[in-house]
Order: sequence, then structure tokens, then C-alpha cells
Amino acid sequence: MSDNFKLATPHFTIEGVSRAGHETWFRIRDLGIALDAGRGPDEVVSMPHVFVTHAHLDHAVGIPFYAGQRQLQQLAGGTVFVPAECADDMRLVLATWERMTHAPFDVEIRGVAVGEEIRFARTLAMRAHAAAHRVAARAYEFIEVRHHLKADFVGEDVARLRREGVAVEEEYRKPVLFYTGDTDRGILEQNEALFQAEVLMIECSFLVDGHQDRAAKYRHIHIDDIADFADRFENELVVLTHFSRRYSRDEIRDAVRRRVPHSLRDRIRLALPEQWQRV
Ligand SMILES: [Zn+2]
Ligand SMILES: [Zn+2]
Repeated sequence: MSDNFKLATPHFTIEGVSRAGHETWFRIRDLGIALDAGRGPDEVVSMPHVFVTHAHLDHAVGIPFYAGQRQLQQLAGGTVFVPAECADDMRLVLATWERMTHAPFDVEIRGVAVGEEIRFARTLAMRAHAAAHRVAARAYEFIEVRHHLKADFVGEDVARLRREGVAVEEEYRKPVLFYTGDTDRGILEQNEALFQAEVLMIECSFLVDGHQDRAAKYRHIHIDDIADFADRFENELVVLTHFSRRYSRDEIRDAVRRRVPHSLRDRIRLALPEQWQRV
């Protein structure tokens, strides 16, 4: 059974598939981005910017296929952002495949350090955050960057002021999305930005009693961790992703319903087919 997910948020639509250990990728066409590359689905191929959180196969094995499909479809460029720690190895993977198939790729692998901010589109920047996992990992925050006329100059001859070299505009930054990738409870304890973004996509691999230790050991989040921080989330929507395959969709929905306080529950969406999205 396919776990395909599609959700319209106030400003963009998220599509994807996400199950722990199996496959995770999301696509947001409105922003021209993919979040993780899963096993190389067709949906990701046309996105010029792919933000891969870490090298685990269920998130990253699709990168060479992405590169090959873009070549085949004659799509120029394409940038895959990965944690700086694994960028060289990822380039080596692509170079190895180029050598084996005698077909050059045009895709660029770009290593990203914690704290780095990259303006990748005219009105979009990405800020990278620390994410503790079993391998090097990043969380990605997406910020809409626009310029507004300063309040002082409303009604003035803006063209003349501009000609005179007056800075009539000011930058306006709005965090529209925060995507955690795989990580543990530490991100809730240490990251402020996560709670502020308009839409938060956060992993929640484990859901039932007895699995709290498993979550800590494998550096994942348990729904109890999210419930502990329930009054901190200022996000309009909180999308839970990356559920363990040991749970059925009904079990997932029931567990979230039982464990998350009402104040947060209304804003939660599950990265599952529509029938199971709301709790
Ligand atoms: Zn994973
Ligand atoms: Zn992982």
C-alpha cells in the first residue's frame, strides 16, 4: 500500500512519501524544492533544489537516480544540498556512477555547514541547523526574503528618492518552513527557530509505550517528546513525518490523538494519505 501524502498549506502544497527505514522524500513545487531524495521518485526529478538531510539510504539513495534522470530529460543543472561532512563521499558516488556508465552528470553536490545560510532563489533562503542523528545530519529552515517600502516613504516620490540614492526599502524575512529530517529530542530542547516557522515538518518515528528507549537509542523522536513541548509550538501547521513501519495508519492516528494535548492537536497533520491526515 502506498503512503502517498499531499497537503495544501496556506502558501504551498507538500507532496511526498515518508516511512522510517523505507523511503522519505517530499516535493514542494511552489518553492521549487525537494526535501530528501528517497529512492529517486519521478516527482523529485524536476525540482532544481534538493535538500538532503543525511546519508541514510531511505533519504539519499535517490541522488544518483535524480542526477541520471535530469541528464536523460535534458534538464540543466540541479543542486543537491547535503551535510558538509558527507559531501565528498556523495560526489565520489556520483563520479563512480559516471565512470561506470560513461555518462556525465550535470548535478552539483553542495555541502552545507550548521549555521550556513544560502540564498538559492530570488525570494528564498535556506538556513541550516544542527540535527543530532546517528550520522551527520542537518535540519533545513526556509525563509521568504522580500523587500518592502519603508513606512516613512509611503506616499512619497519613491522613484526620485531612489535616484537620490535613498534606501527606501527594507528587507522582510518570514520563516515559512522548517524541516527536521531524522533527529532526536535534542532539537526540541535546543532549537528556537523550529517553533516559529509557519509550517513545521518534524520526524516522529515512534509512537507507543515501550518505544521511548528505542527512539533515544536510534536518535529519533517519540510522540511523547513532542507532547512535552506542546505549549511551545507557534506554527500554523505541524506535520509529523517518518513513522516506523511497525505501526498501521490507524495506530498512528490513535496514538497521536491520545498523547498530544488538544491545544496542539488541531494544528497537527500526519504525513499519510488524506483519510489519516487529521487527528
Ligand atoms: Zn530515516
Ligand atoms: Zn536516518
